[in-house]
Amino acid sequence: GPKTAIIDKALLDRILDKNRQSFKEGKVADYIPELGKANASSIALSVVNSDGTIVSIGDVQQRFTIQSISKIVSLMVAVLENGEQNIFDKMGYFGTDKPFNHFANLETSGKPLNPMMNAGAILTTSLIKGTGEEPFLKILHMIRFITNNENIDYSKSVYNSERETGNRNRGMFYLMRNNGLIDGEGEDKLNNYFKQCSIEITAEDLAKIGFFFANHCVRYDGNKQYNNPSLSQLVQSQMLIAGMYEFSGEYARTVGLPSKSGVGGGIAVSVPNKMGIGAYSPALDQHGNSVAAYRMILDLVEEKSLSLFY
Ligand code: GLU
Repeated sequence: GPKTAIIDKALLDRILDKNRQSFKEGKVADYIPELGKANASSIALSVVNSDGTIVSIGDVQQRFTIQSISKIVSLMVAVLENGEQNIFDKMGYFGTDKPFNHFANLETSGKPLNPMMNAGAILTTSLIKGTGEEPFLKILHMIRFITNNENIDYSKSVYNSERETGNRNRGMFYLMRNNGLIDGEGEDKLNNYFKQCSIEITAEDLAKIGFFFANHCVRYDGNKQYNNPSLSQLVQSQMLIAGMYEFSGEYARTVGLPSKSGVGGGIAVSVPNKMGIGAYSPALDQHGNSVAAYRMILDLVEEKSLSLFY
């Protein structure tokens, strides 16, 4: 049937060409000054098919920062170490109508809504064991494992830019500390979050990450070291309800697949038990999701009837 069809390059070419100009309707993020330097017309699309074969087109060599897409990997690392219960005692499984950097619900219940928005993600990373940059290194190494790409590292300039301007994130961190959710040394934990956001990847790396969580945490080349259906269910459920921030509900209606976006312009998509999709274009809509990446994903999903709800 259409759901198991292998995606070929010709289809991706057609979809990319159709959406090549749509970046003009968006705006490259510049609240972190270093992000503002991205080339707005850069665009890439990649698919890891269900048989593990990879098709990538556009600016496939272009590296960009992973930003919030790192949150699905930090959630994985934190849950493997602490158990799901210990993480979700401190935050919710809630969906959201709030933007990525909202303080909900730190002033009411005292706990973040979910691990996909900044507050919950900062807390998740703070719960990964280790001193100094050890928690960050665990996230970096997991991303290198999932992508089978040892060359992945973080951008020092984006990291410094995040650190210099991340006072809203700093505010959340200290409010959660005040609420008794975080202990231990202060800024080191926050710096790990800034560093994980600054990890540089390509659209193909994102497709591999999407594939991994779509397939019980089995890698695209068949490596089963982290095989864990319960963990992939958890991560995909959070992607579905909050991976696209306050647009998640509408996105579930149109695309209908667990996905995670980042303000660097990337989106990683999991097609459960099948494929992974990675899309990139740095110009964002008002929710912080890439305009062209969203449109390319939507076209691919419609063309191949990939929505979970099809
Ligand atoms: N580093 C960004 C921040 O915390 C990530 C936000 C995002 O990608 O949504 O502001």
